Amino acid sequence: MDRTAAARDIVSASASRLCLDMRFLTRAVLSLSTDVEEGEGAPRCDGRTVVFRADTVLESFREDPNSVTRDLAHCVLHCVLGHTSPANTPETDLAEDMLVEYVLDCLDTPHTSVPGRDDRVFVCERLFGKAGAPAVDLLSAVVAETSRWQLDLHRRMFVRDDHSARSGTDDAAWRELSQQVMAEVEGFVRDDEGRTTALMQILRIRNRRRYDYRSFLRKFMTRRTTVRESQTEFDPIYYTYGLSHYGNLPLIDSLEQSDTAMVDEFVIAVDTSGSTMRGPVVRFLEEAFDVLRQTGVGRDSNLHVIQCDDQVRSDDVVRSEGDLRRLVKGFELKGGGNTDFRPVFDYVDRLIEEGGFRNLRGLMYFTDGQGTYPTRRPSYDVAFVFCDDRYREHEVPPWAMRIVVRTEDLMADAPGDSRDP
Ligand SMILES: [Zn+2]
Repeated sequence: MDRTAAARDIVSASASRLCLDMRFLTRAVLSLSTDVEEGEGAPRCDGRTVVFRADTVLESFREDPNSVTRDLAHCVLHCVLGHTSPANTPETDLAEDMLVEYVLDCLDTPHTSVPGRDDRVFVCERLFGKAGAPAVDLLSAVVAETSRWQLDLHRRMFVRDDHSARSGTDDAAWRELSQQVMAEVEGFVRDDEGRTTALMQILRIRNRRRYDYRSFLRKFMTRRTTVRESQTEFDPIYYTYGLSHYGNLPLIDSLEQSDTAMVDEFVIAVDTSGSTMRGPVVRFLEEAFDVLRQTGVGRDSNLHVIQCDDQVRSDDVVRSEGDLRRLVKGFELKGGGNTDFRPVFDYVDRLIEEGGFRNLRGLMYFTDGQGTYPTRRPSYDVAFVFCDDRYREHEVPPWAMRIVVRTEDLMADAPGDSRDP
């Protein structure tokens, strides 16, 4: 039998063994075809076909019958995890290989296990720990800080395929397959002693919903949840109240506008303990102010910006572009200190009681981390906006909305660029 035909048999048997070992990967495995070319070299995959080299298949199969199945599993997982760039930096290539190999070492199935597992797991867990989460961007930054010889050593441990033939596009079919793998592992894999934990954690990062936070802002700030009593008559007391409390801005300036004249009030609370957040905070405030102006929520909308760490530090009312400029110019995030969300809610509740807020429509709390939440549901809409580049999980009370954004989402220019699948 010629060498290529023999290698083809090995590759095809490997695909069957892989499906047998990891049923949740079956659809992903079957959606890739395999091919064998003459000669030597690492397998390569363009998202449709995995191409093996006959001599290398025969030799590595002789040394370790699992190695070809392992190679195939490696290629399939790259596709499932959306690793599709043919032009990565060496650090990113290595980070992707480490993630894939770590998943396979954790799964440790009969036909994919290969020697050296303990060493690989040790290296991965040390570097994942430094990175904060098993995510390619965080991990490649950590890898970039290791020495040249360490990079070479790690490449020898983790590289199994040639990434240069990739298509460069993470197509919809693979994104869907990735969600399907996740659903299958979640629903059908039982009693696996934590073997799928790494896979699930990495898949959750891969399938993280990317929020279009601008559209969230629009929805949040235009939702009309309160049914208001219509002001049928001009009320001089109310009028004066508006003048005295809002400077030259009367709450009701004519009878024609009686149904929309109530000033819409929003609070954006900023957790000032996050010292690295200045850029994102300023950007978020600018966007929120833009939304207020553009959506016609009311030309008399007030935006309160409350700065707080473990106590309220300031409360500024932003009514104009100029107010916003002045505010962000002197904006200072102190860093350190604890985060406690409760003082803002106590403060706002007290203002409501005292009449300082007449029509508070919602409160958005912009924060980069954990804090103590109030136990009672407030009388207005609340959203926590987490600015988090480290893929942490954030729990909020059931009465609050939650969005998680990354710095790059906030700093990105293109509005209306919705990336939700
Ligand atoms: Zn690889």
